[in-house]
Amino acid sequence: MRYLDQISVEGKLVFLRVDFNVPLKDGRVADDTRIIAALPSINYLIEKKARIVAASHLGRPKGKIVPELSMKPVAERLSWILSKEVKFPGEVVGPEVEKMKASLKQGEILLLENLRFHPGEKKNDPDFSKELVKGIEVYINDAFGTLHRAHASVCGVPSLIQEKGAGFLVKKELENLSKALFEPSHPYVLITGGAKVSDKLPVLKSLMKHADRILIGGAMAYSFLKAKGFPVGNSLVEEEMLDEAKAIMDEAVRRGIEFLLPVDHRCVREIKEDAEIKVMKEIENGWIGVDIGPETEKLFSEKIKNASMIVWNGPMGIFEIERFSHGTRAIALAVADSNAFSIVGGGDSAAAVKKAGVSDRITHISTGGGASLEFLSGKKLPGIEALEEK
Ligand code: ADP
Ligand code: MG
Repeated sequence: MRYLDQISVEGKLVFLRVDFNVPLKDGRVADDTRIIAALPSINYLIEKKARIVAASHLGRPKGKIVPELSMKPVAERLSWILSKEVKFPGEVVGPEVEKMKASLKQGEILLLENLRFHPGEKKNDPDFSKELVKGIEVYINDAFGTLHRAHASVCGVPSLIQEKGAGFLVKKELENLSKALFEPSHPYVLITGGAKVSDKLPVLKSLMKHADRILIGGAMAYSFLKAKGFPVGNSLVEEEMLDEAKAIMDEAVRRGIEFLLPVDHRCVREIKEDAEIKVMKEIENGWIGVDIGPETEKLFSEKIKNASMIVWNGPMGIFEIERFSHGTRAIALAVADSNAFSIVGGGDSAAAVKKAGVSDRITHISTGGGASLEFLSGKKLPGIEALEEK
């Protein structure tokens, strides 16, 4: 697979798949992190005098035109950031798009309407791909967060093009995630949390082969604790995952991995902002674990301190509520304070790290939730396969 700087793009009509799936508020872009992340590729293409057709999905319009999910505010924000006109045809495909593509001059950029306004995008409809690819000479994918989806703009379009490759954001993601997957260094500490065991199981299984320590927090921990026979009160448990949880712990023992679960918990009777919080070592009936406790913070931080490599996915508690975010913040600080090569994956974990104000002390914060998890699970991503030369 080639990267953008290995492909000649001068004067060419380049289809650039970006991830501009940004949050909107009152018809404006509320957070432009994802737009900023695509700038290296966009600026490179402008400098090289390519004619750029950028495209992204936004939200879940389900194959229909949903005016609130138009890319127009994104085009406006991009234009403001670039100090440059961003043409906006207001359609995904069709005569207006073709007219604009044909009149694009070197170094100019246009942004298509929301790809998912068209039912062909998610279905990977070949006819839709053929429409998208009209006149296109080079295909570049810089939307890391979509690489695990076999959609038209991710798989269908590149399958119809010879000249193709990945953008700089995808390059950075693949280089960093590959280190964690293929070049482990030790002590290797895997931290997982978040809501669902089922989401994280493939990553746990895959990275177990490298891990010296596994630290589990968040709601996930309660399925593991329950599987071990500990009381968990009314905490979130995935009953159907208990056997799997048990199997993982047995495997960890077999491999000599230090497998740590929380030793205390911040508990409430009801999940609400002003709930009374009680720290418990064993969760009493009627109480819900919403964060790891202070002793666990200390224990986990100690285990993180001398790590050489850290992969963290999933917050330690319901961090969206300030009073339940203490444990997650403590872990974020511990990871930042370590000298480890550190990777944080997952949308919520990335948000938590940002909130703790330590983003710049993390080696790599992955922009793709599902895609990074699938990559770390060792799966081949369809969007990468589509870029590989046959
Ligand atoms: P990421 O997006 O980083 O992959 P997840 O989506 O897996 O993380 O998990 C984040 C979610 O897990 C958050 O919404 C958080 O509130 C929830 N969560 C964490 N700990 C608990 C808990 N103890 N009980 C209920 N939900 C929790
Ligand atoms: Mg999430």
